[in-house]
Amino acid sequence: MTPIHPQTLLIALAIEFVALTLVTLPASRMWPVASGMGRWSIGNACLGVSMALLSQRGVAPGILTVVMANGLLIYGTHSLHLAVRSLYEVPPMPFWRRLPPLVCWVALALLWALDGSTHELAWAPGRVVAFGLAMLWSAGSLGQELTLRAPRPWSLGTWYVFVAMAMPLVGQFARSVQYAGTSRLSDPVLAMRSAVPLYAACAACGVFMTYGFFLLLNDRLQAQLRTANARLREDAATDPLTHVGNRRQLDTVAANEIGRAHRYGWPLTVLMLDLDHFKRVNDRFGHAAGDEVLCAVAAVCQRQLRGHDVLARIGGEEFAILLPHSDLLGAETTARRLAQEIRDLQLDALDGTGVTVSIGIAALTEGEQGIHALLERADAALYRAKSAGRDRVAVDDDNAPR
Ligand code: GH3
Ligand code: MG
Ligand code: MG
Repeated sequence: MTPIHPQTLLIALAIEFVALTLVTLPASRMWPVASGMGRWSIGNACLGVSMALLSQRGVAPGILTVVMANGLLIYGTHSLHLAVRSLYEVPPMPFWRRLPPLVCWVALALLWALDGSTHELAWAPGRVVAFGLAMLWSAGSLGQELTLRAPRPWSLGTWYVFVAMAMPLVGQFARSVQYAGTSRLSDPVLAMRSAVPLYAACAACGVFMTYGFFLLLNDRLQAQLRTANARLREDAATDPLTHVGNRRQLDTVAANEIGRAHRYGWPLTVLMLDLDHFKRVNDRFGHAAGDEVLCAVAAVCQRQLRGHDVLARIGGEEFAILLPHSDLLGAETTARRLAQEIRDLQLDALDGTGVTVSIGIAALTEGEQGIHALLERADAALYRAKSAGRDRVAVDDDNAPR
């Protein structure tokens, strides 16, 4: 088999990282906000240029192929780390955490300068160890970042990024230790036997880590979408003023509860609650005070009800309450308790005066499907309570309880 020259692999790596930059750069335009993709592109670009410079070792000046190439490699790796932080919306990295790779690079440049004028390799082991330490720091920081931030269990993307980045970095460190121990010094980039397998592994890892980062971004976007959807679902079922349920919520829950009540022969009742002379409250104390009263009434009801009861605001000052497992007697007790609690409210917004409510009650009858008819009967009872003078509870006349 024809041996592969490390220089050939370095050129291939340069092409690969430039190609990856061309993939990630447009992607960063798609998700400009805190996705980290822009940072990741910078990292890929730095690695690409660094590989191109490394491949010219011995041909181009050392300031480019040693000092700048290593600087770009260290900075590129650091950028990939920053991209992961940006993806998880971690606050900017403290300065001390940026320092170790910088110190390693400065040490490397100084050691090169000591050899630079004579083209000797006397300080090359020190240089290589400085570089290896920078890589080890990056591997450790990235591993720590993923351990702290990535949701558990780790997704495929997290594993891809972790393995594809940590392995070459640790490999570099191992190689630098190996180099520091060799007696016959040769160029550490082009003339080491371990260079070919390491570069080949880096070539494979380059693709995997960028693919892994796309997967991580996808995980993150999916999670954000799930949260946003949950919030939307909640908003769609909630009354914005009182934060109790709304008509949609009532309809959804009622459909289930009515089905269950028929299936298992359980009773189910509905209360229709309306504030008495609420228009006067608004006229006298203002609309804002009226809003406060609505919130206070909703809060009192919510506190008094059981976990599976559903309170919904279905009109301006009208609430419907679904009471699964409650018969007319139980519903009436609940209604009277609610009316009393509301009557007892001392509201600052109303200068210490109170409000009263009228409540109509209806129970689910045999074969009755849907909540519509049930609400109508509760409404009819409510109307009777109003006609009889308000501040009272009335039960649906023609109710034939189950
Ligand atoms: P009744 O005892 O017959 O129910 O009399 P009422 O004044 O309560 O009933 P009416 O239907 O005449 O008036 C309802 C009032 O509720 C009118 C409206 O200003 C008020 N209202 C409706 N929605 C809101 C709201 O979101 N905030 C406030 N502050 N008032 C509201
Ligand atoms: Mg009213
Ligand atoms: Mg009303």
